[in-house]
Amino acid sequence: MDYGKILEEIFLKIQPYSKEGRQATYIPALANVNPDRFGMCLCTIDGEDYCVESADVRFSVQSISKVFALAMCLSLRGESLWERVGKEPSGTAFNSLVQLEVEKGIPRNPFMNAGAMVLADILLSSLDNPEEEFLSFVRALCGSDSICYNREVAMSERETGFLNAAIANLLKYHATVENDVERVLDFYFTMCSLEMSCRELAKAFLPFANHRDGFAYSGFMLTSSQVKRMNAVMQTCGFYDEAGEFSYLVGLPGKSGVGGGIAAIYPLRYSVAVWSPRLNGKGNSVMGMKALELLTTETKESIF
Ligand code: GLU
Repeated sequence: MDYGKILEEIFLKIQPYSKEGRQATYIPALANVNPDRFGMCLCTIDGEDYCVESADVRFSVQSISKVFALAMCLSLRGESLWERVGKEPSGTAFNSLVQLEVEKGIPRNPFMNAGAMVLADILLSSLDNPEEEFLSFVRALCGSDSICYNREVAMSERETGFLNAAIANLLKYHATVENDVERVLDFYFTMCSLEMSCRELAKAFLPFANHRDGFAYSGFMLTSSQVKRMNAVMQTCGFYDEAGEFSYLVGLPGKSGVGGGIAAIYPLRYSVAVWSPRLNGKGNSVMGMKALELLTTETKESIF
């Protein structure tokens, strides 16, 4: 398969959508990003990389970080993790409070903000230096020692994150989180502020594509069965309130973030990451989704 040529063609084909959607501005620091950037990188499990445009420019991965936090928590807690957080699609916005109230403080899944705060809480309770260990884990996954948190983005979200503060307080009220609310929020916003390029994200997702082997990075191990289950959660819950649409159009497990990134995998073949900051109404990158839809259509490679 000539992925390099296919990616170049996709970039040309998605140009009509280049002004569709709007970048996230509810995190003030994200409003400074040039909305016209686009990058894409595909890494095969045979060790080939194929990149187009700004594939080496780092951006705010935001909710894609939740995948890494889930991997660490699964490694630490195994199946008992699911007593604290569900694994069903939510059908509500990523920052919705309604469901959390009705369901008595147990988040529907680990990729909603509430669920990721439970992951943050577990890491805070289990690790001596959670910020450092999270960063070391992702650095080991992507093979790059220079990826970092962006303090300005984390602070900016901290100052305006009133809805996330409400979620954290509701979790604390229901005793779903153990740690201090402010500490949980700080760590959650810090994880979201991680910056990576498409190439680094694709590399970090490659172990999930290669699920038959399981993996061990930086002291965190997942069995092949756990990796398979993580991919299932990505498939059903990875795209906000649009996981069904993403399955329908693209057909790959993955995760998106409001920074405009999407990382996805085709099991036993490749991982792919795409970045374009303009989002649709559900919070997914317009060009990113279009590019991935074209990728699975042109290659006839999807899990369906
Ligand atoms: N830090 C963002 C928030 O909590 C993450 C949202 C996302 O990327 O889905 O709103």
